[in-house]
Amino acid sequence: MFFENPKFRALGVAALAAVAVVLPAARAEPPAATVVATTTVVADLVRQVGGDRVAVDCLMGAGIDPHSYRATPRDADRLARAKLVVASGLHLEGKLAELLSRLARRVPVTAVADTLPRDKLLPVADNLYDPHVWFDARLWSLCVPAVVDALTKLDPDGRAHYQARAAEFIARLEALDDRLRDRLATIPKQRRVLVTAHDAFRYFGRAYDVEVVGVQGTSTESEAGLADINRLVEMIVSRGIPAVFVETSVSERNVAALREGAQARGHAVAMGGQLYSDALGGPGSGAETLEEVLTANVETIHAGLTGKR
Ligand SMILES: [Zn+2]
Repeated sequence: MFFENPKFRALGVAALAAVAVVLPAARAEPPAATVVATTTVVADLVRQVGGDRVAVDCLMGAGIDPHSYRATPRDADRLARAKLVVASGLHLEGKLAELLSRLARRVPVTAVADTLPRDKLLPVADNLYDPHVWFDARLWSLCVPAVVDALTKLDPDGRAHYQARAAEFIARLEALDDRLRDRLATIPKQRRVLVTAHDAFRYFGRAYDVEVVGVQGTSTESEAGLADINRLVEMIVSRGIPAVFVETSVSERNVAALREGAQARGHAVAMGGQLYSDALGGPGSGAETLEEVLTANVETIHAGLTGKR
């Protein structure tokens, strides 16, 4: 027999060893799936679940407002090459709706927030719900299974990998949820009011017991009226609210009008700082994941409303 000759047997073992060395490297090479995510928040969700098995391409960068975002010719190209598209849903990407529904005829499209039970959502009109669900860490964790399902369909060999990472991410979000609530509870209730540019924080307010007042409504597409501004100024002055906040992806104009209005009534309102709303921070911001963004926002709110910086 071939392997009975000691010389050939040695050769055979060497050949097997060479194969064993090559295999793990080959397996780690190209990611199994190429996924296009619409927003930075969704891209983070896909990365948390997918890890190094998934290459994520994000359409909208840091600081981009998804309500008014329109696809560029280059985006259409990126979407056309995707094996899977993951969107936030609940009409957050208002201007991409038509493109995404056309795309769904040939590429799987998963809108994660659309999978949430309706009784957990905040209605804004008939059959329309507030899309800003990621500001409630526990609610966002309910979107994780939709990503596991979509990735597993695309890459069945990765099932155990996706399930393990998903379980870890959900556990982290639940622990974070508890930490955020405890931190905010140290702000006196009377002052625990978040006045900000658009109504992105209603889920946040419900989850963490913070009164939330947006100047602009739930979408940045609507304009704030003078009556709204006056009503808010009245509330800020009468309750002695110490600070109002601006958002990274929304214009500061309305918040500036509030501060001027309160100033005219003899009540100085500080600019409480920038909150991340519909987009995560860019590279080097220290707020590149949703977990970092939620932590940063809560620290900004805490500092603004307690006056401790
Ligand atoms: Zn928004």
